[in-house]
Amino acid sequence: MRGPKKETAGYVAALALCFAIAVAAGWTTFGVQIDNDAYDFMFRLRPPEAPAFQSAILAIDERTLRQMGGLRNIRAIVAEGLAAVNAARPRAVVVDVLLADDPDPRGDAPLEAVFAQTPNLVLASGLDAEGWEDPLPRFLRPGVAIGHVHAEPDPFDNVTRRIPLEKAAGRERRWALALEAYRVALGGSQITESPQGLELGGAFIPAPRGDSETRPLLIRYFHRAEGAASSIPQVSVAELREDAARAGAFRDKVVFVGVTAQSADDRHMTPYSAGQPMPGVEIHATAFETMAQGRFLRPVSDSTTLLVCLALAAAAGFIFAFQAGWRAYVLGAALLLAAHLAPLALFRWDLVLPYAAPVATAWLSLAGAATYQHFVVRRLLRKSESARTRYQQAIHFVTHEMRTPLTAIQGSSELMGRYKLTENKSRQLAQTINAESRRLARMIQTFLDVERLSQGEMELKREAFAAAKIVEACLERVRPLADRKRIEMQVDGITDSELLGDRELMEYAVYNLLNNAVKYSPPDTRITVSARRDGERLRLSVQDQGIGMDESELRSIFKKFYRTKRAEASGEAGTGIGLSIVDQIVTHHGGRIEVTSKPGAGSCFTVILPVTVSAAAPRAEVR
Ligand code: ADP
Repeated sequence: MRGPKKETAGYVAALALCFAIAVAAGWTTFGVQIDNDAYDFMFRLRPPEAPAFQSAILAIDERTLRQMGGLRNIRAIVAEGLAAVNAARPRAVVVDVLLADDPDPRGDAPLEAVFAQTPNLVLASGLDAEGWEDPLPRFLRPGVAIGHVHAEPDPFDNVTRRIPLEKAAGRERRWALALEAYRVALGGSQITESPQGLELGGAFIPAPRGDSETRPLLIRYFHRAEGAASSIPQVSVAELREDAARAGAFRDKVVFVGVTAQSADDRHMTPYSAGQPMPGVEIHATAFETMAQGRFLRPVSDSTTLLVCLALAAAAGFIFAFQAGWRAYVLGAALLLAAHLAPLALFRWDLVLPYAAPVATAWLSLAGAATYQHFVVRRLLRKSESARTRYQQAIHFVTHEMRTPLTAIQGSSELMGRYKLTENKSRQLAQTINAESRRLARMIQTFLDVERLSQGEMELKREAFAAAKIVEACLERVRPLADRKRIEMQVDGITDSELLGDRELMEYAVYNLLNNAVKYSPPDTRITVSARRDGERLRLSVQDQGIGMDESELRSIFKKFYRTKRAEASGEAGTGIGLSIVDQIVTHHGGRIEVTSKPGAGSCFTVILPVTVSAAAPRAEVR
């Protein structure tokens, strides 16, 4: 669409509105839920290949609890299990069991003893209303790290997609259990913080601090079919007791010790769960693997998402602006497909693009653009069609008008050629031919002038002339018409003001007003012409007692080719072009026209023009 400025601005505004609505929709609960579902779907669509796992899980499962006296006995269970694990020389041990309170001191001594033999130990701390619940001091020898055990289930659907790498209570801050595990596994290197993420042991973890200040890390879950090789190896304490050789699974591994039994209620939904939640300890182990394998998922920043949406809206706009018909629809469909597939494609590159906002932007913008173009194009078409028919009518009329002088010329010349005429008669006919051909020439000239004037091509002449002179000349020209209808022409005070501009065009304008007054008045009425000075201005008015116009008609009479129903019914010929030309002429002379009229009670057209005495120059610039 290379349409007028107004249309382009409307189009851009409509697209901007679609863009804003779509982006806002992406931020609603509904939009976020769609993003989440899409994220989970992409996870399931392309399960990552199982890596060489660097961790293993020592599980306290249902059977272990049954055999070893239940959760009451948990410290003894951990102690026994770890003793077996230690024999296999693990790289580090992470105990996802809170050891803060002291329910049964008898169990603590053996645990303390095993901990003393455990290399690279990480213990768990949880946050409650009073602050951090750290392990009892007896378990904390130098070199033992503490990590927090909190996951960050999504507030909308309770699925754990990320863990906060950092969590603070007051001034005390804890790194996540998985991060501490990664740190000690690297040999206890220092963590360096930056707004974009954390650096340790030469590796960078993309976890921007953001507004929440928790540095959320998206967990790369591995497809978890029960017992399949693609999940982190698990051995339960009960299994270890039955077969000590199974401790081999822990050799050189970062061992996560935790309760997997359903009854312990430490299970969370994951993108893979489909109704089967994952034990907390496995989630920590998976978060550790995400870091250890360096397979991070990076959420695309909000500003990038906005840019993507903006690009989609712009593309939709361009498609429907520069293409039409099936081409536009095919391109639109391609754009939709691209918007739907972009998150999938980016997910392959480990980038997470929200789904709702871009897809909503593509749909809304395309629908908006298509609708807008549909209506605008239709309106333009209607406009140009009615302009064309009116133009045709005008041409028809003009040619008809030209026929009158042509017929006179033809007839006179024929008479002269065919008959031997008296000298007197010949002179008379020659005069007629001369006068009529001049009239024809004037008519053509006026139409051409006006056409060029309306296209802004013509320079206005700038000559001084007396207003009274043109009024007089025009009155002279319409008098025969007025006489035929017995219309009285009354002149009511004419000043001798001088105007500056194009005399011929001005005469054309005044003549038109007078001619209309005569045309649209019944016989035996009166037309009053007056020209008064009003300060620096001349007010030239033509008042009739004719058919008049109502308010809505008044608003349209200066449009090209417009005629009122009353005028058509009057039987007077017309093109509806005259007043539009008058208006242009007057405007080009720095003036304006006022009209008052009532149906059946006559009209008064007043032309207000600057006079030269005040040196007011006519405006001849291009409109
Ligand atoms: P037209 O060739 O139809 O006279 P104009 O542009 O001169 O075209 O006028 C436009 C229309 O304005 C006319 O068709 C008529 O309906 C209305 N009009 C103009 N002058 C008068 C008048 N003095 N009284 C009533 N109607 C008028």
